[in-house]
Amino acid sequence: MKTFDMIEKLANTRNLSDNELTALLQSDNYDNELFSAADKKRREIYGDEVYIRGLIEFTNYCKNNCYYCGIRRDNKNAVRYRLTKEEILACCDEGYRLGFRTFVLQGGEDPYYSDALICDIVSEIKTRYDDCAITLSIGEKSKESYKAYFEAGTNRYLLRHETANNSHYRKLHPDDMNLQNRKQCLYDLKEIGYQVGSGFMVGSPYQTTEHLIDDIRFLQELQPDMIGIGPYITHEDTPFSSLESGSLLLTLRLISVLRLMFPYALIPATTSLGTIHPQGRELGLKAGANVVMPNLSPVKVRRLYTLYDNKICTGEEAAQCRGCLERRVASAGYRIVTSIGNAKKENKQNAGIS
Ligand code: SAH
Repeated sequence: MKTFDMIEKLANTRNLSDNELTALLQSDNYDNELFSAADKKRREIYGDEVYIRGLIEFTNYCKNNCYYCGIRRDNKNAVRYRLTKEEILACCDEGYRLGFRTFVLQGGEDPYYSDALICDIVSEIKTRYDDCAITLSIGEKSKESYKAYFEAGTNRYLLRHETANNSHYRKLHPDDMNLQNRKQCLYDLKEIGYQVGSGFMVGSPYQTTEHLIDDIRFLQELQPDMIGIGPYITHEDTPFSSLESGSLLLTLRLISVLRLMFPYALIPATTSLGTIHPQGRELGLKAGANVVMPNLSPVKVRRLYTLYDNKICTGEEAAQCRGCLERRVASAGYRIVTSIGNAKKENKQNAGIS
């Protein structure tokens, strides 16, 4: 099948065979058709609206030792920090003033923040701002913990599966972590009632096209509301320091494929995409992304949440970031809106799919 026909098939049926996906991901001849089909689909459903999420990176302590990540436990060069409840609330106050209606609390897996403390922080944010969504991204927890956070008022949870292929997973993580548990966490979160986000890094060490297809198949099974993907970027103080970063083009291609497969999904143009290319986030939006997640963390800790080298936006105040992003999004042909930004729901009867 010609690539152009494949793109049409993907747009109409939301699926392709493994062979077709391989061809699409490996060919660089038809990117323009792919990007414009994805943009057309996002405009049909989300128009030109871009949702913003205020990201608060509240701790860089982590008990895990993922080989790719700059805040891994064994990185002795990482200067560690934790934000207090008051500091987190101050970020939300500033964020609300700037038009954010979603706060994403992300961190390493840091046992200092007990379930009771997380619930206390979430319920205080909820009390102050009942028109906002709260998203947590704090890793693998028990189902009971996830239930407690949900009951305290958390609406969404981000937990990238990282790679859906078991042997690839083993190359990226030490023995005390496993893929089955991570997937189970995602199913638990869904069952509890969260809006769930998953995703993976593009171009992580040892990744092949087959692994990417496994990632896509896993997402088809999970049916998440949010899908976060970004290029893997090397960090100098990790065991992978000598390995290459992922590519802009493959990330854009995957954003488009995911937009066509999951037309209603919330897909961010990530900070890592903005880090590997000066216009990475704008290109991500044009390839089908509809969310951006600027940083609301206090400037004094920004440089310390270094998952990878040369991370952008570590020097500006939240208000400056907001203004800069407004211009970038407009330059790409879209518009930031002040909205809670839930995923739109499909009318299944009209769509004819069950
Ligand atoms: N502890 C939380 C948050 C992890 S950080 C959790 O486990 O979900 C958020 C994401 O950053 C990770 O899921 C991973 O996909 C991404 N990340 C980590 N190291 C990276 C790197 N070197 N390059 C690009 N992305 C990275």
